Amino acid sequence: MSLDTKYEDNNIFAKIINGDLPCVKIYEDENILSFMDIFPQTEGHCLVIHKKAASVNILDMPTDALAEVILIVQKVARAATAALSPDGVRIVQFNGASAGQTVFHTHFHVIPTNDGMPESNHASGSPHPTEELEAVAAKIRAAL
Ligand code: 5GP
Repeated sequence: MSLDTKYEDNNIFAKIINGDLPCVKIYEDENILSFMDIFPQTEGHCLVIHKKAASVNILDMPTDALAEVILIVQKVARAATAALSPDGVRIVQFNGASAGQTVFHTHFHVIPTNDGMPESNHASGSPHPTEELEAVAAKIRAAL
């Protein structure tokens, strides 16, 4: 997928927004959704997306939608750090397959990090059990 690829309505995150696929939610309002990454690289790895901007990557995202989503990225990162007390938190955002993007609906990763703790590979492995994701999500939600 190149940087100027067109938005496809049937991407995984569009299906999550429509309710066609499940997710473990952390935060939702009229425009923004945050949920647990199903292949978490660390405990607490979650994603933040805009529900209404049909945007492939940060380059084609309307600036008002980008402003809305980044405010919630900060809110979720604050909650994740309050809930999980990591040593750090990585905010990541990939644009184009060449950069590592695998889902072509603009999103931000919030990845709590801990010194000396191994991390799982990006977007690979087996889907994490929902109960385990839900247990971590409940802690983050409680800190929102
Ligand atoms: P990207 O590689 O595009 O930056 O990030 C996409 C992210 O979505 C990856 O971290 C991957 O683990 C996650 N992901 C892929 N499929 C699903 C899914 O069906 N549900 C959830 N919650 N996350 C997914």
